Amino acid sequence: MERTLSIIKPDAVAKGVIGKILDRFESNGLKIAATKKIQLTRSDAEAFYAIHAERPFFNDLVDFMISGPVVVSVLEGEKAMAKNRELMGATNPKEAEAGTIRADFAENIDANAVHGSDSVENAAIEIAFFFSEREIS
Ligand code: GDP
Repeated sequence: MERTLSIIKPDAVAKGVIGKILDRFESNGLKIAATKKIQLTRSDAEAFYAIHAERPFFNDLVDFMISGPVVVSVLEGEKAMAKNRELMGATNPKEAEAGTIRADFAENIDANAVHGSDSVENAAIEIAFFFSEREIS
């Protein structure tokens, strides 16, 4: 059993597809072990994406992530990290496979509907960023 972190980004929350995206997880064997809707502060977003601080798109990414509320969830299941990445599709929705979350709900690489941890190690760090252990079950 593995855990990973998912974020439904502001574009998808604004579009009203929280339920449709959570359904993709549950319909594909991922349990929602924790979930909450929150408004990130600028310092939250900067800390969460610190790994991208030197990238040219960092400021745009932070501005976008605080442009409205997000839904953060802990997904649990066998190979949860890789499974979630598969359900999400490629970072650029134009390259995302048909039937993936980004192909179906994202507009472009800035507003690409979802975030998912990219390794089991990062998943543990990202989950601890948003949730205490007693919020996860
Ligand atoms: P992810 O793991 O698929 O979300 O992709 P990354 O970890 O590489 O990038 C984090 C986020 O930064 C992506 O989801 C995009 O929203 C954004 N991003 C990544 N690459 C680019 C880029 O080349 N241009 C812009 N504008 N945003 C990008």
